[in-house]
Amino acid sequence: MNRTYLSCLVALALGACDPTPHPGDVGIERVELTQHIQDIANQVPLLAGKPTFVRVFVRGNTEGGAAVPTVGARLTVDGGAPIAPTGTTAVTPPATGSDWRTTTDSFLFEVPALAGGSHHLRVELVLPAGATVSSEANLDAEFDVRMRGRGASDAPISARAWSVSYGYTDVPMSYWQRAGITSSTWPARPVADLGPQVASATPYLPLATLDLQPLPGAPAGSVPCNYMGDAATGGCAGYLDGRAWGQQLIDAAYPNGGETIVVLQPEEAGNRLLGADTVTGRGNHVINLQRNDHPDLAGLTLAHEFLHALGVGHTASTLDFYETSYPRPDGSLGPYVAVVSAPRLHLIPGDDASGAPVGRDIQSYQFPQATSPFTYCKALRTASAGDVTCPRGLDSWDR
Ligand SMILES: [Zn+2]
Repeated sequence: MNRTYLSCLVALALGACDPTPHPGDVGIERVELTQHIQDIANQVPLLAGKPTFVRVFVRGNTEGGAAVPTVGARLTVDGGAPIAPTGTTAVTPPATGSDWRTTTDSFLFEVPALAGGSHHLRVELVLPAGATVSSEANLDAEFDVRMRGRGASDAPISARAWSVSYGYTDVPMSYWQRAGITSSTWPARPVADLGPQVASATPYLPLATLDLQPLPGAPAGSVPCNYMGDAATGGCAGYLDGRAWGQQLIDAAYPNGGETIVVLQPEEAGNRLLGADTVTGRGNHVINLQRNDHPDLAGLTLAHEFLHALGVGHTASTLDFYETSYPRPDGSLGPYVAVVSAPRLHLIPGDDASGAPVGRDIQSYQFPQATSPFTYCKALRTASAGDVTCPRGLDSWDR
């Protein structure tokens, strides 16, 4: 059996499969290939070197009250060893088809990063012992996919950035307890603190890897806290001096621009996302940020600011650097379902079954956050220097 999953989708949706499913039959309705965000027609490009998730949606024919078998599934890639689904391993295919906003009645496979170029995938539903269907043709789907990247060889798309870290001096005693320090010196954090932020940010970015390295030879920085605000809620306005220090370092190292430096502040942001991306006179990007220790927030600030560095503005009309062609001025994610793979695997649907917004774009400041096709596609064009682009009009990214 060799056909595209799209023809299967159309066939089953029209009730005109070849062969026509009989009562009691089950089949694959649709296969989604996603590395974070995807549309229903699988138009968001897949990238070499980035883990891929294969979601398999199934449907059963219960006409006349017919029972359908509970099935398992397996995936093979390039004829390799079968891969078992992650999470749900047995599904009784619903008469209305799997719900794409959940993982409870569909299969989810995790495929390790694949090299650039073409790969052959085969998905099979596995019937329980003794169960039969009128035709086994609807139980499998087989197709080729291309993992995209730079140039004719589809080389993995990576971005490089540099990191530095600084601390504060002259922190007023009234701030010590909140800051978690016991003297007026707030030490710089090790740049290794950025590791979890990078791991959690990468799934949101159209990159195989985000390669963040300590800026060679850079010392730990130190600036006066310059406390501002009231005693209970204020903080160190010296972060602006910390950012200026990072700017001097990157401009000295790369006077021709085109590089990005991440300046790690000593503060931890709690349940807020605190950072900024600015461009130096030399054309380098400076991202200052506070880390988030909460696993569900780790990486969101870095991903957001890095998307700015890749040329993507905010999605909500109430914010500065507003993308006027973002199709949903409320910043909502849209009619898509995102797979967030780190630090825990879960889905963020853009809307609920009634169409009400649930997920928000990462370039908004609302939660839960995922990267819309608009943001992903726009950043992908920058990151790949135009080698990999989404189809025109997909979520208005190219308007
Ligand atoms: Zn922003």
